[in-house]
Amino acid sequence: DNSLQNVPLAPPDAILNLSALYKADTDPHKINLGVGAYRDNDGKPWILPVVKKAEELILHDPNVDHEYLPTAGLQSFTDASAKLIFGADSPAIKEKRVGTFQTISGTGACRIAADFLARHRKAPIYISNPSWANHQAIFTDAGLEIKYYQYWDPQTRGLAFASLIETFKSAPEGSIILLHPCAHNPTGVDPTFEQWKIIADVLKSKNHFPFFDCAYQGFASGDLDRDAQAVRYFVEQGFEMLVTQSFAKNMGLYGERCGALNVVAKTEESAKKAVSQWCKISRAAYSTAPSYGARIASTVLNNPELYQQWTEELKTMSYRIINMRDELFKHLQELGTPGTWNHVVDQIGMFSYTGLNLNQVNTLKEKFHVYLTDNGRISMAGLNTGNVRKFAEAVDWVVR
Ligand code: PMP
Repeated sequence: DNSLQNVPLAPPDAILNLSALYKADTDPHKINLGVGAYRDNDGKPWILPVVKKAEELILHDPNVDHEYLPTAGLQSFTDASAKLIFGADSPAIKEKRVGTFQTISGTGACRIAADFLARHRKAPIYISNPSWANHQAIFTDAGLEIKYYQYWDPQTRGLAFASLIETFKSAPEGSIILLHPCAHNPTGVDPTFEQWKIIADVLKSKNHFPFFDCAYQGFASGDLDRDAQAVRYFVEQGFEMLVTQSFAKNMGLYGERCGALNVVAKTEESAKKAVSQWCKISRAAYSTAPSYGARIASTVLNNPELYQQWTEELKTMSYRIINMRDELFKHLQELGTPGTWNHVVDQIGMFSYTGLNLNQVNTLKEKFHVYLTDNGRISMAGLNTGNVRKFAEAVDWVVR
């Protein structure tokens, strides 16, 4: 019987479910450390002032209409997006070996890449354990074979570097290796530049295919170039590779769904072929990408004055988060909270992987009205000068 009555209810998304629980909580001092979206020091979403300026310009631009974008996207956006990640003087761009395609934010970029890889590269994809939960869902739905490399070492609360290298060495030749170039989600732990070089050597020796999922450029350190250094190093090393981009965090364009998928190929011709396949995949899935977010990003990226302002606003966001790491660490020290907490300040980006276990996470929720994911990850952006002490005290209570 194929009646709709027989369709099972899909389980709720863990993060969205957490937000619903938070919303339903009537405690006035509740704290939401679940969803990875920037909040200002008053706990409010922040529209970047530079984005407002760009919107003004777009609103009064007589050339703007609501026609469809080309299938590959708004070219002034995709060109600028490629320069942002690979560098304005990137030889690969000059040699036209880079192909860039506008996507429905970072998630859409991952999905187009996944469908493409499933069709044109018969190889398993290695993702970090742990990783952004949606990676597994995306690559499974696309029909890729998923394998894992250990990333987090619970003992050191840092990178499981030796294990990761071992896995890359023993993976079948030509595997796809998914890497987070900066601000690893959920751990907040990144390889050092020296470690990236070793990773590159191993990947090269095994003919692996790097796939960088870049959701936090500029948001991690406050420096767009620094956050792109791993990607640029791999390009210098001559890899063929894929690179996604998201403008959700770094421009605060979450709901506008603005992103890109890039290929770095050996030749202009193969870059073109890859992009042609992405056009084919997207055409059958949703036709063309939305224009509004891409217009905003294009305006910011192509206008030197706005670009400069954006780099300042990136610092506002990333420095506030870095400051919250320092504050949280300081309060835990003051309280004499058992355990080591250096990882809170050593980690980078939106998230901190606290090392708190499921029991402690549940107690934080039930007793202290603090909401975080079951794996002990907190979104640093949910902390502010008004709640960081209360959070530290709650952590202190649950670990004792
Ligand atoms: N990749 C990673 C690692 C992420 O953390 C995110 C954001 N949570 C994304 C991709 C995609 O986000 P979006 O689709 O909102 O750009």
